[in-house]
Amino acid sequence: MSPDIYDVVVVGGGPAGATAAHDLARQGRSVLLIDRMGRVKPCGGAIPPRLIRDFGIPEHLLVARAQCARMISPRDVKVDIPIEGGFVGLVDRDVFDEWLRERAAQAGAHRRIGRFTRVDSPADGPAVVHFEERQRAGDGHAVQRSVRARCVIGADGARSEVARQAVPGAEKTKYVFAYHEIIRAPQPGHPDYDPSRCDVYYRGLLSPDFYGWVFPHGATMSVGTGSADKGFSLRAAVADLRRAAGLVGTETLRREGAPIPLKPLPRWDDERHVVLAGDAAGVVAPASGEGIYYAMYGGRLAADAAQAFLSSGRPRDLALARRRFMKDHGKVFWVLGMMQHFWYRNDKRRERFVSICRDKDVQQLTFDAYMNKALVKAKPMAHVRIFFKDMAHLLGLARV
Ligand SMILES: Cc1cc2nc3c(=O)[nH]c(=O)nc-3n(C[C@H](O)[C@H](O)[C@H](O)COP(=O)(O)OP(=O)(O)OC[C@H]3O[C@@H](n4cnc5c(N)ncnc54)[C@H](O)[C@@H]3O)c2cc1C
Repeated sequence: MSPDIYDVVVVGGGPAGATAAHDLARQGRSVLLIDRMGRVKPCGGAIPPRLIRDFGIPEHLLVARAQCARMISPRDVKVDIPIEGGFVGLVDRDVFDEWLRERAAQAGAHRRIGRFTRVDSPADGPAVVHFEERQRAGDGHAVQRSVRARCVIGADGARSEVARQAVPGAEKTKYVFAYHEIIRAPQPGHPDYDPSRCDVYYRGLLSPDFYGWVFPHGATMSVGTGSADKGFSLRAAVADLRRAAGLVGTETLRREGAPIPLKPLPRWDDERHVVLAGDAAGVVAPASGEGIYYAMYGGRLAADAAQAFLSSGRPRDLALARRRFMKDHGKVFWVLGMMQHFWYRNDKRRERFVSICRDKDVQQLTFDAYMNKALVKAKPMAHVRIFFKDMAHLLGLARV
């Protein structure tokens, strides 16, 4: 039975929306989760152990575990970074996202398949969410529906329609475009293939401002690249990447791409009923393009902010989501943004960047930051050493 009015309507059932719906339903809120379904999110699917821990992800969703990251320079210098005492998990997004949505439903959230079309968020009275409901994804026949909601979480991904309608300025968001090919994994024994290694290529030819990747996914692999430069041919770059990685002859199963937002939006709520989460709020880490952990964390914070608002009746509580996110991750995003700015500029700098990755301090700090999502404060001297090494490389005083 649908209630006359939902506590929260969540638009979008990706990692952000499904997490928010799950958290709220578990706390006894009436929740409607709307997702249009039918399209697998284009994604490399790499997730850190912190995500697996914090969001209770079961082992069976991991299709591969990477125990080494290989950084590859423009001149083909390879630096292997072993992931000591941990691993990077790889998930297939069709299975992963559906599992998250189903977990939310098991906790009590109602699910509908449908395309969000409009939100009315008046100063007085509840919000109304309009959507075109379908029985199944891809069904030609849709029914117009409208539901009332005390609160709305917009988690409909990059280029969010909820954000565009409800949050002024959201339409100005800038994007990196990412494209990848899902290919069948080579047979064991292939000289360039290791099912437990993620390869990361820093090369102007493969991306003028980002990087190219080859990620293992069990029976398949994700081979992709990204760039904010609209004139840059991502397809041609992936063809070059497959040549460089010895993966030309392997069967291509899917070709797909999507935008990745460049930075968090300055506002995530409309000061009435709506709060954003995940790509809709612009939270993808600069330099790495990592978004799944931040989407889920943002979904959790949006759920907390919705709870606070529903309990207090104060719309300003919706702003807690952004405030807490920036307090926890604003510094890491800033550092990663600076890294991207300095090191992804030209091949000379990329060569030096890969070279400093040989450094044990750099390896440890990078991986601690990735695995645990925090800048490590315990080793202040390591930060100082890295700062001087960085400067030496930037000024060309250190040997590559
Ligand atoms: C090529 C590529 C590779 C990437 N690789 C990685 C990686 O390896 N690791 C990583 O951490 N991040 C990666 N990212 C980023 C990551 O995919 C995103 O940051 C993450 O998916 C954001 O989650 P989300 O829930 O906010 O949005 P999404 O995952 O985009 O989910 C949005 C949901 O909203 C639904 N929706 C959209 N519009 C509507 C509508 N009008 N009505 C109803 N439903 C709607 C969609 O169906 C979807 O389920 C990659 C991104 C790209 C493009």
